[in-house]
Amino acid sequence: MRHFDLVIIGSGSGNSIADERFSGWKIAIVEKGVFGGTCLNVGCIPTKMFVHTADVAAAPASGARLGVDAHLDGVRWTDVRDRIFGRIDPISEGGRRWRAEENANVTVFASTARFVGPKTLDTGTGETITADRFVLAAGSRPVVPDVADLASVGYHTSDTIMRLDALPPRMTILGSGFVAAEFAHVFSSFGVAVTVVGRSDLLLRHEDREIATRFTRIASEKWDVRLRRKAVRAERVDGVVRLHLEGPSGEEHVDAEELLVAVGRTPNSDLLDLPATGVALHADGRVVVDGHQRTSVEGIYALGDVSSEHQLKHVANHEARVVQHNLLHPDEPIASDHRFVPSAVFSSPQVASVGLTEEQAAERGVRYVAASQAYASIAYGWAMEDSTGFAKVLADPEDGRILGAHVIGPQAPTVIQPLIQAMSFGLDAKSMARGQYWIHPAMPEVVENALLNLPLEY
Ligand SMILES: Cc1cc2nc3c(=O)[nH]c(=O)nc-3n(C[C@H](O)[C@H](O)[C@H](O)COP(=O)(O)OP(=O)(O)OC[C@H]3O[C@@H](n4cnc5c(N)ncnc54)[C@H](O)[C@@H]3O)c2cc1C
Repeated sequence: MRHFDLVIIGSGSGNSIADERFSGWKIAIVEKGVFGGTCLNVGCIPTKMFVHTADVAAAPASGARLGVDAHLDGVRWTDVRDRIFGRIDPISEGGRRWRAEENANVTVFASTARFVGPKTLDTGTGETITADRFVLAAGSRPVVPDVADLASVGYHTSDTIMRLDALPPRMTILGSGFVAAEFAHVFSSFGVAVTVVGRSDLLLRHEDREIATRFTRIASEKWDVRLRRKAVRAERVDGVVRLHLEGPSGEEHVDAEELLVAVGRTPNSDLLDLPATGVALHADGRVVVDGHQRTSVEGIYALGDVSSEHQLKHVANHEARVVQHNLLHPDEPIASDHRFVPSAVFSSPQVASVGLTEEQAAERGVRYVAASQAYASIAYGWAMEDSTGFAKVLADPEDGRILGAHVIGPQAPTVIQPLIQAMSFGLDAKSMARGQYWIHPAMPEVVENALLNLPLEY
């Protein structure tokens, strides 16, 4: 039985661990799917390449309010798709080839691994291996909800929807979170009639309620948004997918040529048979880790979606750096920093947030004040004729510590970054607002003014 110093399961964020400092280690990487993981192949990167293209496609329609009459002649779907994957696929294949063929100390197994005993792994290739250390970086996969006959109608998930052969006239999107919101923007901007079906009363319900409410209102003006609906059955009728729903007004259905299921993601821990090696799991399937990304078994680490409550690439990357350090320096381990984890929704409008929502602050009894500033009240907002965006900041009134920030509007993920920086480095709201120049008349003035609006007491 071959023995390794280190086995990494998953080639997403886990793949970045084995740099030149590990050149003396005998390493195995096991990857069951496309090399490079979710973000590169079916997640952040292709979606944002589609989102930018969708923003361009949507631009003519937004010109009229500025006095510019433009018209979208069409979207060449296969050209859009092939530009994106023509760039991504070679990166994935190049990464695999480099690891497999040019890293003498690394063995790549293209298969599904599972534990069969303590630190003993069936690689899925017919070979069972052992190792001193393992990194569980197996990620997550789309949840398929319990809807009768769903499997038989031919639905898509985020793994497949970006590779469609042609744009459908209509698309039903089951789900109301960020993946649903981003694809609704992409496909509606490309001319597809989109229906979004969600169980809760709001889209993006994990956001600050004011933000989620504003987003839901704007979305409902563009897409057929059906909330408080439960999908109960699917069927194919004359080549169309019919989704039967139960909602506040009883039963109804929605028809579309394509159905995208985007109701969340579940950790891939179940594929690994972790009890065989003694690794403990949370009730929701996530691998239990301590602050140093160590699992319950000495020498086995976990990172990213398989263990994290934040299913985000920047978190997985951060945790991979922590694991990397702790593998190299087990006697001086460092901890992950999950204090201020930001997230963004690249839909239309864009949304970004960090820290506490107003509801969380209230629930937890945290002392806070909140203030907002509309894009419509800053000069660049006038330039864009934006009437819906705003930035909201929560701070401790006594010392100005920033507790949370939420932005909805143009470039929200970029606009929020100075607030993430302030929170991470302990900059108080007054110092942040008045201790630096804010370029006039740039979009971050919306943040400057939200900070100045805070009723601080110090
Ligand atoms: C549509 C979409 C859009 C997203 N957009 C963003 C975004 O804008 N910003 C952001 O921060 N995050 C985004 N994410 C989330 C982000 O992609 C993930 O958080 C991140 O990729 C997780 O990285 P990871 O290394 O934990 O797992 P992954 O990158 O998923 O890597 C895990 C790998 O393990 C392999 N694997 C699993 N089980 C086994 C096994 N038993 N044997 C062998 N191999 C196995 C899988 O095939 C996979 O390649 C998005 C996700 C999706 C789906």
